[in-house]
Amino acid sequence: MPGIYIHIPFCKQACHYCNFHFSTSLRYKNEFLSALLKEIERVEDIVQPVQTIYFGGGTPSLLETEELSTIMTALKSRFGWQPDAEITLEANPDDITAPKLNNWKELGINRLSIGVQSFFEEDLRWMNRAHNATQAIHSLEMAVKEFSNITLDLIYGSPGLTDEKWKQNLDTAIGLGITHLSCYALTVEPKTPLDKRIRQQQSPDIDSAQQSRQFLYLMEYMAQNGFEHYEISNFAKPGHRSRHNSSYWKGENYIGLGPGAHSYDGQSRWWNVANNNQYIREITEGKLPQEKENLTLSQRWNEYIMIHLRTMEGINFNELTTLFSNEKEVFENKWIDHLLRETAPHIKAGHLVQDDHRIYLTNEGKLFADGIAGDLFQ
Ligand code: SF4
Repeated sequence: MPGIYIHIPFCKQACHYCNFHFSTSLRYKNEFLSALLKEIERVEDIVQPVQTIYFGGGTPSLLETEELSTIMTALKSRFGWQPDAEITLEANPDDITAPKLNNWKELGINRLSIGVQSFFEEDLRWMNRAHNATQAIHSLEMAVKEFSNITLDLIYGSPGLTDEKWKQNLDTAIGLGITHLSCYALTVEPKTPLDKRIRQQQSPDIDSAQQSRQFLYLMEYMAQNGFEHYEISNFAKPGHRSRHNSSYWKGENYIGLGPGAHSYDGQSRWWNVANNNQYIREITEGKLPQEKENLTLSQRWNEYIMIHLRTMEGINFNELTTLFSNEKEVFENKWIDHLLRETAPHIKAGHLVQDDHRIYLTNEGKLFADGIAGDLFQ
């Protein structure tokens, strides 16, 4: 399923925990848009038509409707897409207005991903989000009237978020009638303002016990409300999984456009430079501002383990055997036997379950997903 990711590298202000690629200056927005259109023209080797398009960032909702429309027109004439393609736009609550929602729908956007993070004013200020709590609610009330496919992002485990507030955030989100929710534990990324504040003792550090408690509550709450926990950070009502992100998790090919965007074709990965000026300059000079990595056999194997372990379906032995059926090394060195041997202690600890064709995490095991994946690596 070919998918296209478009990275819009601008934000109104820098959230204190964020390490994505973005600029808070819109000075070179026009130059960026021209470069992006050139990059769209130059993409090669994509199986058409496209089935999912994802505008991420940064903050794509900062773009004017005319700017989004120009990108959509370029994508359509270069690639085309299926009539039922999933087209997602990441939007921040402070950008959402009734006319904008209407314009987005008319452009063909049929899924919104809204970066709410919390419905509490003090948390939003602490994160340095550009929106306030009233905008969070109001934007969603407007959005659910126009779009049937909406996902929200929420953050748990932040220092001011008590268990009671976390429960209220979930009640509010689900009460608004959304069909998909992505929840992330707050992480302290190096060199972010949050990292600096914690090191200077201006902010308390992350409490991992609080994060585990809130994650366990989240899983129980979402199951009670009829959501599938289909990926470790993602919950969907039946029929509302993100098709775009699911294609990443199934190891399918995708193309990333814009500064910092990554692409993958099953054998290699390549990525654009995460620097707006350099991206604009090189594209304008007719160069491709990219680096490329050919994946080794063990990298491809480990990637399968890591990504699939995070999904509800887990690691599927039949699929793994088929995917690597031409790789002599996998069979000669008995990689499947190694995998089974390494799962045994985790099954005994109650963190993994094995049935006749797959291994998957228990809810308790999801707290340790990265460590368990590391143990299973080749
Ligand atoms: S809006 Fe999103 S991309 Fe921009 S700084 Fe905040 S978290 Fe990062």
